[in-house]
Amino acid sequence: MIWLGIESSCDETACAVLQDDPLKVLSNPLYSQIDEHALYGGVVPEIAARAHLQKIAPIAEAAVKEAGVELKDIDAIAYTTGPGLMGPLLVGASFAKGLARDLNIPAYGMNHLEGHLAAAWLSNPDIEPPFLTLTVSGGHTELVMEEPGFKYTSIGRTRDDAAGEAFDKCGKLIGLKYPAGATISRLGKDHNRKFVEFPRALHTHDSCEFSFSGLKTAVLRYTETHDPEFIQQNLGDICASLEDAIVDSLVTKTINALKKTKMKTLVMGGGVSANSWLRTRLQDYCDKKGIRFCVPDRSLSTDNGAMIAAAAIRRKLQGKLESIDVVKPWMPLAL
Ligand code: ATP
Ligand code: MG
Ligand code: FE
Repeated sequence: MIWLGIESSCDETACAVLQDDPLKVLSNPLYSQIDEHALYGGVVPEIAARAHLQKIAPIAEAAVKEAGVELKDIDAIAYTTGPGLMGPLLVGASFAKGLARDLNIPAYGMNHLEGHLAAAWLSNPDIEPPFLTLTVSGGHTELVMEEPGFKYTSIGRTRDDAAGEAFDKCGKLIGLKYPAGATISRLGKDHNRKFVEFPRALHTHDSCEFSFSGLKTAVLRYTETHDPEFIQQNLGDICASLEDAIVDSLVTKTINALKKTKMKTLVMGGGVSANSWLRTRLQDYCDKKGIRFCVPDRSLSTDNGAMIAAAAIRRKLQGKLESIDVVKPWMPLAL
């Protein structure tokens, strides 16, 4: 079967064409709205919805063309129903359903977070649940157990900000453009991670909960007590310290969850899963403990259409492809 995946939950208009046997991403173009939101330091829902409306048809056309197929070759559509911004989700859902009706094929509504994890499955299609999952993205930070039949149990989640949000907000405080995660990582590379001792929340707990709001406050205090020139001169070391604080929290809690659940496979997904320091730290631990660590190809860590089609294919293979027909802005994996 040939699948068209459509992702429009936030600020990326993304479409992809996948074949399921053998499993292959045939195309995966996207339009990133980052420049349209940069002025405001974050995503503006109304601007996002309008941009999706303009770009969704051309991106879908590009996906089909780049894949070397024609519209009539598409057998099914998978689109994001949530979590995400209501306007952007509605654009994707309306487009997907309209096109499916025109082509007389099914359209399946998928969970965006299941999509992020399915991106890791694309590079590790033989993994079988149960396994522990770590979702680290712009809006979510959560450890979830996946058991056969797509049964999800939350092991721990953030009490406040998500890891990606922490990167972005702390980055903004030190003068970096949104989204700051990849920039902080690049600027901090090979710098001193111990330059500033930023706080690690709930570090002494053996719980699996995260908290990043204290870090945000600590960075704010840091900017209030240090000259802008000093911050600029030491930006590499500050970024390295910031990255280390966020990654350290993620790694500690993930290790707690691995110990608690005794899982031998860890699957990570979401934009922050592109982070090299996080990958290295978790890989080191997993290697030592004989745990299999599955991550998405770096190009599939942040939002894309391939992960949405992959989520549908993965469900289809297990006989569990049920469409979530209603667009839900707030829809965690595990309730
Ligand atoms: P959600 O998936 O929770 O709905 P989202 O779709 O907006 O949120 P993603 O696209 O999954 O989020 O991820 C975007 C986030 O990933 C941003 O916060 C960004 O700063 C962060 N990010 C991207 N690359 C890196 C990196 N290399 N290191 C750290 N953070 C990164
Ligand atoms: Mg985005
Ligand atoms: Fe996402």
